[in-house]
Amino acid sequence: MTGGPTKIAVIGSINMDLITKTTRLPRIGETVLGDRLQYRSGGKGANQAVAAARYGADVAFLGATGQDGFGRQLRAALASAGLALDDVRSLPGQTSGAAFIVVDGAGDNMITAIPGTNWSLTSQDVDAFKHRLAGADVLLVQLEIPLPVVLAAIRLANTAGVLVVLNAAPADHSDRRELDQLVAQCDVLLVNETEADCLGASGANWVDKARSLTARGPETVVITLGAAGAVAVDGAQAVFQPAFQVEVVDAIGAGDAFSAALAVELGRQTPLPDAVRLACAAGALATTGTGGQEALPSYSQVETWLGEGILPAFGPETTRKEDQQ
Ligand code: ADP
Repeated sequence: MTGGPTKIAVIGSINMDLITKTTRLPRIGETVLGDRLQYRSGGKGANQAVAAARYGADVAFLGATGQDGFGRQLRAALASAGLALDDVRSLPGQTSGAAFIVVDGAGDNMITAIPGTNWSLTSQDVDAFKHRLAGADVLLVQLEIPLPVVLAAIRLANTAGVLVVLNAAPADHSDRRELDQLVAQCDVLLVNETEADCLGASGANWVDKARSLTARGPETVVITLGAAGAVAVDGAQAVFQPAFQVEVVDAIGAGDAFSAALAVELGRQTPLPDAVRLACAAGALATTGTGGQEALPSYSQVETWLGEGILPAFGPETTRKEDQQ
């Protein structure tokens, strides 16, 4: 790692999020009324790229949009977040990715994502991005683009000695063999509770479940637990970081803020407990605003928030919450 900002290469999805709020989520076959329709720039790749930039990283982002109206808006949003569009493909004759998001009164959400141009990214695109990837401290990838493309990126990063953070979201892919290959070749596996279960994590509590996933290859496994915080394990330690108590507006973007902050901190060689604490603070802050990219916190917001003691000054613990119950 050189001096200056941490260099993060992000390869991933770009979606237009169509969001509505309801008093409760619809059941199968049921229609509920939403308050209004909001259009917000999203996609895990774009959100994490924007989150990393806001968190102070130097970000190179590879993704794809269509040349439709959504595509133009999505590119404009990335540019206004300060990201270079050099590696954001603009594909004619295809629709941009989109996601339908319903948020209920408690802040829980239901999401249907339509891949669109995200599914048109290729391993050749990764090859063309090679110079940016090889110069990065960290590669941050998710699973909203074709898995062979993610695998090509991870292989290049491994060859170049770049730390690979795989946010295995969503994890319900039919091709488990491909998914297992990705997990085996990343350095840091980051998942939420659902994704951990989907990957077959086993154990009586979340620390044990995280440990069971290290047996698949990654040196470090982090599991986010929503309002309960996060656990992280590596060969040397197990960390439980309780969530910071905040007024939740909606939880969209919390996972992306967490992923980006964790990647940046690990890229600048912050010890795991501190990296997880900062990532939990970034995730908590993201829940206090509406939508995806707009609610992503800056590094100075996180630092100020923690420094001023506005957030409870929890230290990371090596004890397990589950054991105390
Ligand atoms: P995802 O959106 O990927 O499922 P989580 O819901 O686990 O991710 O949230 C990621 C992180 O954001 C959590 O580990 C936690 O630190 C923070 N977070 C999420 N929801 C809350 C909440 N209600 N209160 C405080 N922090 C939260």
